[in-house]
Amino acid sequence: MSEPFENTLAYAKEQDLKDALSVLREEFIFPTTSLGEPQIYFCGNSLGLQPKAAQEAVCNELEDWAKFGVEGHFISRKPWFHYHKFLSDYTAEIAGAKIHEVVVMNHLTVNLHLLLFSFYRPTRQFQTATGKNEPLRYKIIMEAGAFPSDMYAIQTQVESHGLHYDDAVIELSPRSGEYTLRNEDILSAIEKAGEQLALTFFSGVQYYTGQLFNIKEITAATHSVGALAGFDLAHTTGNIELELHNWGVDFAAWCSYKYLNSGPGNVSGVFIHEKHGLNPATPRMAGWWGHNEVERFEMKRGYIPEPGAAGWQMSNAPVFGMAIHLVSLEIFHRAGMKNLRAKSKRLTDFLEFVLLDALSRNTHLQFTIVTPQSSEERGCQLSMRCDKNGKALFDHLFDKNIIVDWREPNVIRISPTPLYNSFEDVYTLGQAYLTYTNLT
Ligand SMILES: *Cc1c(COP(=O)(O)O)cnc(C)c1O
Repeated sequence: MSEPFENTLAYAKEQDLKDALSVLREEFIFPTTSLGEPQIYFCGNSLGLQPKAAQEAVCNELEDWAKFGVEGHFISRKPWFHYHKFLSDYTAEIAGAKIHEVVVMNHLTVNLHLLLFSFYRPTRQFQTATGKNEPLRYKIIMEAGAFPSDMYAIQTQVESHGLHYDDAVIELSPRSGEYTLRNEDILSAIEKAGEQLALTFFSGVQYYTGQLFNIKEITAATHSVGALAGFDLAHTTGNIELELHNWGVDFAAWCSYKYLNSGPGNVSGVFIHEKHGLNPATPRMAGWWGHNEVERFEMKRGYIPEPGAAGWQMSNAPVFGMAIHLVSLEIFHRAGMKNLRAKSKRLTDFLEFVLLDALSRNTHLQFTIVTPQSSEERGCQLSMRCDKNGKALFDHLFDKNIIVDWREPNVIRISPTPLYNSFEDVYTLGQAYLTYTNLT
């Protein structure tokens, strides 16, 4: 915690007054209870709130479809033929990438499969003496307890190469008595795997613990042993300032409905470093929408990919969802990731402060914050492990119209997002912790 905070309403209100980003809250719709009371929302890590401008953006596309029919591909206000391009600038900005290194398409897990198809290429050595076809560079290092979709995707990919998960995948766990991985332990595991390592595959911000991995150093260490580094940035994009190009990350993907506020199940963003994206020899799953745009509608044999990440597109763009995503990305563009991150650090530090203050004053509370304490090692989420009665605390907060997130078996996740959460929200949450009583 960087500064002497005060756990008072006056202090919280003063911080909001000084906050140049506080006006952005007005651009979002907050959920209400069945009685119409406003809720305080701390679940931007799970499903971000709806931008007010989303509805009009979708209606515009519906109108253009009604008006132009199939011609809308070329003559609608934002022609659907190359709709993904309307999102490229903002996506590149938020990912720290060049424009041709990003594309918005499909859904996150689908994209992870497409990327793993391209970038998990275990090699084999044919040993004439034994006649055995031995795997050579085939190991994957990832965090233990990764988001299930990551584990399942990796498992399928590994097995599709005739390998076994337990042999091919090295899952790293925190040291005993610790909740999160040490960067030094990740780096030494990479070094140890050495020339057997094909891929490191980490989340940026870990969905359960809130730990931010050191993407830059993991990537550098991975490259130093000749392997590739890929990341699932579902909890990272729109949360952390990224420099995917400069860090040399090989590939990454993220969803748009968590911190990026683009609505349930909406499209995914993809980053492919230009060293792979501009190389026509990089294997990819081909579909007509990734074909060279100039002759896409000539329907010819022989796949010629668009240069860059756009060449990974398979299907034509889901325009209604992408219209919302565009609205949302535009808000990020106006706010600026640098400003958002600066506020985010203070807001999360303040949250930590009020939670620990409540813990020290209310003997009914029992929890441990498992997220790292340094703001360099976390985004805007704190995960609290509740050894007793966590669900009762969660229900107590819900009764106070405060929405946080419950993860089995015993974790409450709280994410104050800098776009629409205020210091006063955090103060109010702290007050609810103070009034919690454990009646059992
Ligand atoms: C939310 C999340 C997903 C979800 O994948 P979808 O394909 O969008 O359903 C995947 N991975 C991580 C790390 C997530 O946090």
